Amino acid sequence: MKWVYIEDLKQYIGQEVELRGWVWNKRSSGKIHFLQFRDGTGFIQVVVEQSSVDPQTFEISDRIKMESSVIVRGVVREDSRSPYGVEVHAKEIIPVQIPTEPYPISKKDHGIDFLMEHRHLWLRSRRQFHILRVRDAVLTAIRNFYKERKFVQIDTPIFTGSIGETAGNLFEVDYFDYGKVYLSQTGQLYLEAACLAFGKVYNLGPTFRAEKSKTRRHLIEFWMHEAEVAYYEHEDNLRLQEELVSYIVKYVLENASEHLIAIGRDISKLEKVTVPFERITYDEAIKILQKHGSNIQWGDDFGGDEETIIASQFEKPVFVTHYPRKCKAFYMQPDPSRPEVVLCGDLLAPEGYGEIIGGSQRIHDYDLLVERLKEFNLPVEKYQWYLDLRKWGSVPHSGFGLGVERTVAWICGLEHIREAIPFARTLYRVYP
Ligand code: ATP
Ligand code: MG
Ligand code: MG
Ligand code: MG
Repeated sequence: MKWVYIEDLKQYIGQEVELRGWVWNKRSSGKIHFLQFRDGTGFIQVVVEQSSVDPQTFEISDRIKMESSVIVRGVVREDSRSPYGVEVHAKEIIPVQIPTEPYPISKKDHGIDFLMEHRHLWLRSRRQFHILRVRDAVLTAIRNFYKERKFVQIDTPIFTGSIGETAGNLFEVDYFDYGKVYLSQTGQLYLEAACLAFGKVYNLGPTFRAEKSKTRRHLIEFWMHEAEVAYYEHEDNLRLQEELVSYIVKYVLENASEHLIAIGRDISKLEKVTVPFERITYDEAIKILQKHGSNIQWGDDFGGDEETIIASQFEKPVFVTHYPRKCKAFYMQPDPSRPEVVLCGDLLAPEGYGEIIGGSQRIHDYDLLVERLKEFNLPVEKYQWYLDLRKWGSVPHSGFGLGVERTVAWICGLEHIREAIPFARTLYRVYP
Protein backbone atom coordinates (compact mmCIF):
# COMPACT_ATOMS: atom_id res chain seq x y z
CA MET A 1 0.00 0.00 0.00
CA LYS A 2 1.22 3.48 -0.81
CA TRP A 3 2.55 5.62 2.08
CA VAL A 4 1.36 9.18 1.48
CA TYR A 5 1.49 12.44 3.42
CA ILE A 6 -1.55 14.44 4.49
CA GLU A 7 -0.45 17.40 2.37
CA ASP A 8 -0.90 15.22 -0.75
CA LEU A 9 -4.06 13.38 0.29
CA LYS A 10 -6.37 15.28 -2.06
CA GLN A 11 -4.85 13.46 -5.00
CA TYR A 12 -6.00 10.12 -3.56
CA ILE A 13 -9.74 10.60 -3.10
CA GLY A 14 -11.52 7.24 -3.29
CA GLN A 15 -8.25 5.30 -2.97
CA GLU A 16 -6.77 3.25 -0.20
CA VAL A 17 -3.58 4.72 1.31
CA GLU A 18 -1.24 4.36 4.26
CA LEU A 19 -0.54 7.26 6.65
CA ARG A 20 2.25 7.28 9.22
CA GLY A 21 1.91 9.66 12.10
CA TRP A 22 0.49 10.42 15.51
CA VAL A 23 -2.89 10.73 17.17
CA TRP A 24 -3.03 14.06 18.97
CA ASN A 25 -6.60 13.74 20.19
CA LYS A 26 -9.55 11.38 20.11
CA ARG A 27 -13.31 11.59 20.35
CA SER A 28 -15.41 8.56 20.79
CA SER A 29 -19.08 7.60 20.66
CA GLY A 30 -18.99 3.90 21.49
CA LYS A 31 -19.22 2.38 18.04
CA ILE A 32 -17.14 5.02 16.30
CA HIS A 33 -13.80 6.68 17.09
CA PHE A 34 -12.65 9.95 15.60
CA LEU A 35 -8.85 10.12 15.70
CA GLN A 36 -7.34 13.57 15.29
CA PHE A 37 -4.31 12.63 13.32
CA ARG A 38 -1.16 14.48 12.25
CA ASP A 39 1.85 13.40 10.25
CA GLY A 40 4.04 16.51 10.27
CA THR A 41 2.61 17.84 7.01
CA GLY A 42 -0.90 18.47 8.23
CA PHE A 43 -3.86 17.45 10.33
CA ILE A 44 -6.88 15.31 9.44
CA GLN A 45 -9.53 13.20 11.04
CA VAL A 46 -9.41 9.42 10.83
CA VAL A 47 -12.78 7.71 11.30
CA VAL A 48 -12.78 4.21 12.80
CA GLU A 49 -16.20 2.55 12.60
CA GLN A 50 -16.74 -0.66 14.50
CA SER A 51 -18.89 -2.01 11.67
CA SER A 52 -16.25 -1.53 8.97
CA VAL A 53 -13.00 -2.69 10.64
CA ASP A 54 -11.94 -6.03 12.09
CA PRO A 55 -12.30 -6.41 15.88
CA GLN A 56 -8.55 -6.19 16.46
CA THR A 57 -8.28 -2.78 14.78
CA PHE A 58 -11.24 -1.47 16.74
CA GLU A 59 -9.71 -2.75 19.97
CA ILE A 60 -6.41 -0.99 19.12
CA SER A 61 -8.17 2.26 18.34
CA ASP A 62 -9.97 1.91 21.67
CA ARG A 63 -6.60 1.82 23.46
CA ILE A 64 -5.13 4.76 21.58
CA LYS A 65 -4.27 7.75 23.77
CA MET A 66 -3.00 11.22 23.03
CA GLU A 67 0.32 11.10 21.18
CA SER A 68 0.19 7.47 20.21
CA SER A 69 2.23 6.77 17.08
CA VAL A 70 0.30 4.71 14.58
CA ILE A 71 0.18 3.62 10.96
CA VAL A 72 -3.28 3.99 9.45
CA ARG A 73 -4.52 2.25 6.33
CA GLY A 74 -7.82 3.39 4.95
CA VAL A 75 -9.84 5.05 2.21
CA VAL A 76 -9.63 8.76 1.47
CA ARG A 77 -13.04 10.46 1.37
CA GLU A 78 -13.92 13.97 0.40
CA ASP A 79 -15.05 16.08 3.37
CA SER A 80 -15.73 19.77 3.03
CA ARG A 81 -15.33 20.45 6.79
CA SER A 82 -11.66 19.46 6.83
CA PRO A 83 -9.08 22.11 5.91
CA TYR A 84 -7.57 19.59 3.51
CA GLY A 85 -10.99 18.75 2.11
CA VAL A 86 -10.62 15.07 3.04
CA GLU A 87 -10.84 12.55 5.85
CA VAL A 88 -9.70 8.95 6.06
CA HIS A 89 -11.95 6.00 6.85
CA ALA A 90 -9.75 3.45 8.55
CA LYS A 91 -9.55 -0.19 7.52
CA GLU A 92 -6.54 -1.13 9.58
CA ILE A 93 -4.53 0.54 12.37
CA ILE A 94 -1.03 -0.61 13.29
CA PRO A 95 0.22 0.73 16.63
CA VAL A 96 3.88 1.78 16.71
CA GLN A 97 3.93 3.09 20.26
CA ILE A 98 1.08 3.64 22.68
CA PRO A 99 2.12 5.80 25.66
CA THR A 100 1.68 4.44 29.15
CA GLU A 101 1.59 7.89 30.76
CA PRO A 102 -0.86 10.73 30.13
CA TYR A 103 0.41 13.38 27.71
CA PRO A 104 1.56 16.44 29.69
CA ILE A 105 0.10 19.05 27.33
CA SER A 106 -3.55 18.23 27.51
CA LYS A 107 -5.25 21.42 28.64
CA LYS A 108 -6.12 24.58 26.77
CA ASP A 109 -4.81 26.95 29.43
CA HIS A 110 -1.26 25.86 30.25
CA GLY A 111 0.87 28.83 31.30
CA ILE A 112 3.76 29.98 29.16
CA ASP A 113 6.44 28.67 31.56
CA PHE A 114 4.91 25.22 31.47
CA LEU A 115 4.75 25.31 27.69
CA MET A 116 8.36 26.51 27.34
CA GLU A 117 9.46 23.77 29.77
CA HIS A 118 7.76 21.31 27.41
CA ARG A 119 8.83 22.97 24.18
CA HIS A 120 10.05 19.61 22.83
CA LEU A 121 6.42 18.43 22.97
CA TRP A 122 4.74 21.80 22.45
CA LEU A 123 6.26 21.85 18.95
CA ARG A 124 3.65 19.24 18.02
CA SER A 125 0.72 21.62 18.56
CA ARG A 126 -1.18 23.02 15.63
CA ARG A 127 -0.32 26.61 16.43
CA GLN A 128 3.41 25.89 16.58
CA PHE A 129 3.15 23.84 13.41
CA HIS A 130 1.70 26.82 11.55
CA ILE A 131 4.16 29.37 12.98
CA LEU A 132 7.23 27.29 12.20
CA ARG A 133 5.95 26.57 8.71
CA VAL A 134 5.79 30.34 8.18
CA ARG A 135 9.35 30.59 9.50
CA ASP A 136 10.38 27.95 6.98
CA ALA A 137 8.70 29.97 4.20
CA VAL A 138 10.52 33.15 5.32
CA LEU A 139 13.89 31.36 5.18
CA THR A 140 13.09 29.91 1.76
CA ALA A 141 12.02 33.34 0.51
CA ILE A 142 15.32 34.86 1.62
CA ARG A 143 17.32 32.22 -0.25
CA ASN A 144 15.16 32.50 -3.38
CA PHE A 145 15.43 36.28 -3.39
CA TYR A 146 19.21 36.13 -3.49
CA LYS A 147 19.33 33.24 -5.91
CA GLU A 148 17.26 35.30 -8.35
CA ARG A 149 19.69 38.19 -7.91
CA LYS A 150 22.76 35.96 -8.24
CA PHE A 151 24.21 36.76 -4.83
CA VAL A 152 26.70 34.29 -3.34
CA GLN A 153 25.93 32.77 0.05
CA ILE A 154 28.98 33.20 2.27
CA ASP A 155 28.71 31.71 5.73
CA THR A 156 30.43 33.70 8.45
CA PRO A 157 32.05 32.29 11.61
CA ILE A 158 30.42 31.96 15.01
CA PHE A 159 33.67 32.21 17.00
CA THR A 160 35.26 35.60 16.50
CA GLY A 161 37.94 37.78 17.98
CA SER A 162 36.46 40.99 16.57
CA ILE A 163 33.53 42.73 18.18
CA GLY A 164 31.03 43.53 15.45
CA GLU A 165 28.51 45.70 17.26
CA THR A 166 28.98 46.84 20.84
CA ALA A 167 31.16 45.53 23.64
CA GLY A 168 28.17 45.47 25.99
CA ASN A 169 26.43 42.21 25.23
CA LEU A 170 29.08 39.68 24.23
CA PHE A 171 29.37 36.03 25.20
CA GLU A 172 32.97 35.12 25.97
CA VAL A 173 34.29 31.65 25.31
CA ASP A 174 37.65 30.08 26.25
CA TYR A 175 39.42 29.17 23.05
CA PHE A 176 42.38 26.89 23.79
CA ASP A 177 45.68 28.77 24.04
CA TYR A 178 44.29 31.74 22.15
CA GLY A 179 42.40 32.94 25.19
CA LYS A 180 39.04 34.66 25.07
CA VAL A 181 36.96 34.81 21.92
CA TYR A 182 33.32 35.81 21.44
CA LEU A 183 30.20 34.26 19.99
CA SER A 184 29.40 36.44 17.01
CA GLN A 185 26.83 39.21 17.33
CA THR A 186 26.91 39.66 13.55
CA GLY A 187 28.80 38.29 10.57
CA GLN A 188 29.03 41.71 9.01
CA LEU A 189 32.76 42.34 9.19
CA TYR A 190 33.40 39.03 7.42
CA LEU A 191 30.72 39.75 4.83
CA GLU A 192 32.47 43.03 4.08
CA ALA A 193 35.62 41.05 3.27
CA ALA A 194 33.51 38.67 1.17
CA CYS A 195 31.82 41.44 -0.83
CA LEU A 196 35.21 42.71 -1.95
CA ALA A 197 35.90 39.19 -3.22
CA PHE A 198 32.46 38.22 -4.60
CA GLY A 199 30.67 41.55 -5.18
CA LYS A 200 27.24 40.71 -3.75
CA VAL A 201 26.99 38.32 -0.84
CA TYR A 202 24.66 37.22 1.95
CA ASN A 203 24.66 34.99 4.98
CA LEU A 204 22.06 33.29 7.13
CA GLY A 205 22.83 31.88 10.54
CA PRO A 206 22.67 32.17 14.31
CA THR A 207 23.99 35.16 16.24
CA PHE A 208 24.33 35.69 19.97
CA ARG A 209 23.74 38.62 22.27
CA ALA A 210 23.92 38.63 26.02
CA GLU A 211 20.89 40.92 26.16
CA LYS A 212 19.92 41.45 29.78
CA SER A 213 16.64 43.07 28.82
CA LYS A 214 13.47 41.00 28.96
CA THR A 215 11.49 42.39 26.07
CA ARG A 216 9.11 40.51 23.81
CA ARG A 217 11.46 41.32 20.88
CA HIS A 218 14.82 40.07 22.11
CA LEU A 219 16.26 36.58 22.15
CA ILE A 220 19.72 35.59 23.36
CA GLU A 221 20.31 33.43 20.31
CA PHE A 222 18.61 34.56 17.14
CA TRP A 223 18.99 34.02 13.42
CA MET A 224 20.15 36.85 11.31
CA HIS A 225 20.30 37.26 7.58
CA GLU A 226 22.84 39.79 6.38
CA ALA A 227 23.70 41.11 2.93
CA GLU A 228 26.64 43.19 1.79
CA VAL A 229 27.24 44.71 -1.65
CA ALA A 230 30.36 46.36 -3.07
CA TYR A 231 29.78 49.70 -4.80
CA TYR A 232 26.37 50.06 -3.15
CA GLU A 233 25.71 53.39 -1.47
CA HIS A 234 23.06 54.37 1.07
CA GLU A 235 20.03 54.58 -1.24
CA ASP A 236 20.97 51.38 -3.14
CA ASN A 237 21.05 49.67 0.23
CA LEU A 238 17.56 50.84 1.23
CA ARG A 239 16.16 49.76 -2.12
CA LEU A 240 17.57 46.25 -1.72
CA GLN A 241 16.02 46.02 1.75
CA GLU A 242 12.55 47.11 0.71
CA GLU A 243 12.63 44.72 -2.23
CA LEU A 244 13.68 41.89 0.08
CA VAL A 245 11.05 42.53 2.73
CA SER A 246 8.21 42.93 0.24
CA TYR A 247 9.43 39.78 -1.53
CA ILE A 248 9.40 37.80 1.73
CA VAL A 249 5.87 38.95 2.56
CA LYS A 250 4.59 38.20 -0.93
CA TYR A 251 6.24 34.78 -0.89
CA VAL A 252 4.65 33.91 2.44
CA LEU A 253 1.24 35.13 1.25
CA GLU A 254 1.51 33.03 -1.91
CA ASN A 255 2.97 29.90 -0.34
CA ALA A 256 1.95 29.80 3.31
CA SER A 257 -1.19 31.90 3.71
CA GLU A 258 -3.15 28.90 5.04
CA HIS A 259 -0.79 28.89 8.03
CA LEU A 260 -1.35 32.60 8.66
CA ILE A 261 -5.10 32.15 8.45
CA ALA A 262 -4.96 29.17 10.81
CA ILE A 263 -3.34 31.30 13.52
CA GLY A 264 -5.77 34.15 12.97
CA ARG A 265 -3.44 36.64 11.26
CA ASP A 266 -5.12 39.58 9.51
CA ILE A 267 -3.73 39.05 6.03
CA SER A 268 -5.03 42.34 4.63
CA LYS A 269 -2.37 44.16 6.68
CA LEU A 270 0.38 42.16 4.97
CA GLU A 271 -1.07 42.67 1.51
CA LYS A 272 -0.22 46.38 1.83
CA VAL A 273 3.51 45.65 2.16
CA THR A 274 4.61 46.65 -1.33
CA VAL A 275 7.52 48.82 -2.52
CA PRO A 276 8.41 51.58 -2.04
CA PHE A 277 8.57 52.02 1.75
CA GLU A 278 8.60 55.48 3.19
CA ARG A 279 11.89 57.00 4.39
CA ILE A 280 12.04 59.50 7.22
CA THR A 281 15.13 60.92 8.87
CA TYR A 282 16.02 60.55 12.51
CA ASP A 283 15.29 64.28 12.91
CA GLU A 284 11.78 63.80 11.55
CA ALA A 285 11.31 60.79 13.83
CA ILE A 286 12.29 62.94 16.84
CA LYS A 287 9.58 65.45 15.84
CA ILE A 288 6.97 62.68 15.60
CA LEU A 289 7.96 61.44 19.07
CA GLN A 290 7.88 64.88 20.64
CA LYS A 291 4.48 65.51 19.08
CA HIS A 292 3.31 62.33 20.82
CA GLY A 293 4.42 63.59 24.19
CA SER A 294 7.85 61.93 24.42
CA ASN A 295 10.62 63.97 26.03
CA ILE A 296 13.28 62.37 23.85
CA GLN A 297 16.18 64.64 22.88
CA TRP A 298 18.29 64.76 19.74
CA GLY A 299 21.14 62.30 20.26
CA ASP A 300 19.13 59.71 22.22
CA ASP A 301 18.77 56.26 20.71
CA PHE A 302 15.30 54.78 20.21
CA GLY A 303 14.02 51.87 22.25
CA GLY A 304 11.06 49.66 21.53
CA ASP A 305 8.51 52.20 22.75
CA GLU A 306 9.84 54.93 20.47
CA GLU A 307 10.00 52.56 17.51
CA THR A 308 6.39 51.55 18.10
CA ILE A 309 5.19 55.16 18.11
CA ILE A 310 7.12 56.05 14.96
CA ALA A 311 5.98 52.96 13.05
CA SER A 312 2.35 53.46 14.09
CA GLN A 313 2.25 56.48 11.75
CA PHE A 314 2.64 54.15 8.77
CA GLU A 315 0.83 51.14 7.33
CA LYS A 316 3.96 49.59 5.87
CA PRO A 317 7.47 49.21 7.26
CA VAL A 318 9.25 52.57 7.37
CA PHE A 319 12.93 53.47 7.17
CA VAL A 320 14.39 55.83 9.75
CA THR A 321 17.68 57.14 8.37
CA HIS A 322 20.57 59.40 9.33
CA TYR A 323 20.91 58.64 13.06
CA PRO A 324 23.48 60.54 15.12
CA ARG A 325 26.71 58.62 14.84
CA LYS A 326 26.98 58.39 18.62
CA CYS A 327 23.91 56.07 18.65
CA LYS A 328 25.31 53.66 16.10
CA ALA A 329 28.20 51.23 15.56
CA PHE A 330 31.75 52.33 14.74
CA TYR A 331 31.81 51.29 11.10
CA MET A 332 29.08 53.54 9.68
CA GLN A 333 29.89 56.08 6.99
CA PRO A 334 29.26 59.69 8.01
CA ASP A 335 26.94 61.78 5.85
CA PRO A 336 29.38 63.99 3.88
CA SER A 337 27.06 66.98 4.18
CA ARG A 338 26.51 66.48 7.92
CA PRO A 339 29.23 64.41 9.59
CA GLU A 340 27.43 64.20 12.94
CA VAL A 341 24.93 61.76 11.37
CA VAL A 342 25.60 58.50 9.53
CA LEU A 343 24.29 56.96 6.30
CA CYS A 344 22.22 54.31 8.01
CA GLY A 345 18.66 53.09 8.08
CA ASP A 346 16.62 51.09 10.53
CA LEU A 347 13.55 49.45 9.04
CA LEU A 348 10.69 49.53 11.54
CA ALA A 349 7.82 47.10 11.11
CA PRO A 350 4.24 48.23 11.64
CA GLU A 351 1.95 46.97 14.44
CA GLY A 352 4.53 47.41 17.19
CA TYR A 353 7.19 44.95 16.05
CA GLY A 354 10.03 47.46 16.04
CA GLU A 355 13.31 47.24 14.15
CA ILE A 356 13.47 44.30 11.77
CA ILE A 357 16.51 45.55 9.85
CA GLY A 358 19.52 47.65 10.75
CA GLY A 359 21.77 48.70 7.89
CA SER A 360 24.29 51.28 6.73
CA GLN A 361 26.90 52.33 4.27
CA ARG A 362 30.29 51.35 5.73
CA ILE A 363 33.35 53.50 6.22
CA HIS A 364 35.75 52.73 3.39
CA ASP A 365 38.54 55.14 4.32
CA TYR A 366 41.40 53.62 6.31
CA ASP A 367 42.27 56.61 8.49
CA LEU A 368 38.67 57.40 9.37
CA LEU A 369 38.08 53.78 10.39
CA VAL A 370 41.14 53.78 12.68
CA GLU A 371 39.90 57.01 14.24
CA ARG A 372 36.49 55.45 14.90
CA LEU A 373 37.89 52.25 16.39
CA LYS A 374 39.85 54.39 18.86
CA GLU A 375 36.82 56.54 19.58
CA PHE A 376 34.84 53.36 20.44
CA ASN A 377 37.72 51.98 22.57
CA LEU A 378 38.12 48.93 20.36
CA PRO A 379 41.54 47.22 20.11
CA VAL A 380 42.89 48.39 16.72
CA GLU A 381 45.39 45.50 16.53
CA LYS A 382 42.55 42.93 16.49
CA TYR A 383 40.98 44.70 13.51
CA GLN A 384 44.08 44.69 11.31
CA TRP A 385 42.48 42.23 8.89
CA TYR A 386 39.38 44.43 8.71
CA LEU A 387 41.52 47.51 8.14
CA ASP A 388 43.33 45.67 5.31
CA LEU A 389 40.04 45.82 3.39
CA ARG A 390 40.54 49.60 3.31
CA LYS A 391 44.14 49.26 2.14
CA TRP A 392 43.54 47.19 -0.97
CA GLY A 393 40.63 47.59 -3.32
CA SER A 394 38.55 49.67 -0.95
CA VAL A 395 35.22 50.84 -2.39
CA PRO A 396 32.03 52.30 -0.97
CA HIS A 397 29.92 49.37 0.17
CA SER A 398 26.76 48.87 2.14
CA GLY A 399 24.79 46.18 3.84
CA PHE A 400 22.28 45.28 6.49
CA GLY A 401 21.09 42.63 8.91
CA LEU A 402 17.54 41.35 9.19
CA GLY A 403 16.35 39.57 12.31
CA VAL A 404 14.65 36.37 11.16
CA GLU A 405 12.54 35.90 14.31
CA ARG A 406 11.51 39.55 14.43
CA THR A 407 10.33 39.20 10.86
CA VAL A 408 8.49 35.95 11.59
CA ALA A 409 6.91 37.45 14.72
CA TRP A 410 5.63 40.41 12.71
CA ILE A 411 4.38 38.36 9.75
CA CYS A 412 2.59 35.93 12.10
CA GLY A 413 1.39 38.69 14.43
CA LEU A 414 2.88 36.99 17.54
CA GLU A 415 2.72 38.40 21.05
CA HIS A 416 6.28 37.35 21.81
CA ILE A 417 9.34 36.46 19.74
CA ARG A 418 9.94 33.17 21.63
CA GLU A 419 7.37 31.37 19.45
CA ALA A 420 9.21 32.40 16.26
CA ILE A 421 12.16 30.03 16.84
CA PRO A 422 12.03 26.28 17.48
CA PHE A 423 13.94 26.36 20.78
CA ALA A 424 14.18 29.86 22.22
CA ARG A 425 17.13 30.91 24.36
CA THR A 426 15.93 33.62 26.69
CA LEU A 427 17.39 35.29 29.76
CA TYR A 428 16.40 32.46 32.13
CA ARG A 429 15.96 29.55 29.76
CA VAL A 430 18.27 27.13 27.99
CA TYR A 431 16.09 24.06 28.62
CA PRO A 432 15.05 22.09 26.64
P1 ATP B 1 17.40 46.42 18.86
O1 ATP B 1 17.54 47.89 18.70
O2 ATP B 1 16.02 45.92 18.67
O3 ATP B 1 18.04 45.90 20.12
P2 ATP B 1 19.77 46.16 17.34
O4 ATP B 1 19.81 47.51 16.73
O5 ATP B 1 20.58 45.91 18.56
O6 ATP B 1 18.23 45.75 17.65
P3 ATP B 1 21.17 45.08 15.05
O7 ATP B 1 22.52 44.96 15.62
O8 ATP B 1 20.90 46.21 14.14
O9 ATP B 1 20.09 45.05 16.24
O10 ATP B 1 20.81 43.67 14.38
C1 ATP B 1 20.07 43.53 13.17
C2 ATP B 1 18.69 42.96 13.40
O11 ATP B 1 18.73 41.80 14.22
C3 ATP B 1 17.75 43.87 14.15
O12 ATP B 1 17.19 44.81 13.28
C4 ATP B 1 16.72 42.91 14.68
O13 ATP B 1 15.78 42.58 13.69
C5 ATP B 1 17.53 41.68 14.98
N1 ATP B 1 17.88 41.57 16.41
C6 ATP B 1 18.80 42.28 17.08
N2 ATP B 1 18.90 41.90 18.35
C7 ATP B 1 18.02 40.87 18.49
C8 ATP B 1 17.66 40.02 19.56
N3 ATP B 1 18.25 40.11 20.74
N4 ATP B 1 16.72 39.06 19.35
C9 ATP B 1 16.14 38.94 18.15
N5 ATP B 1 16.44 39.70 17.09
C10 ATP B 1 17.36 40.67 17.24
MG1 MG C 1 20.04 45.71 20.51
MG1 MG D 1 18.40 49.11 17.24
MG1 MG E 1 20.12 48.04 14.72
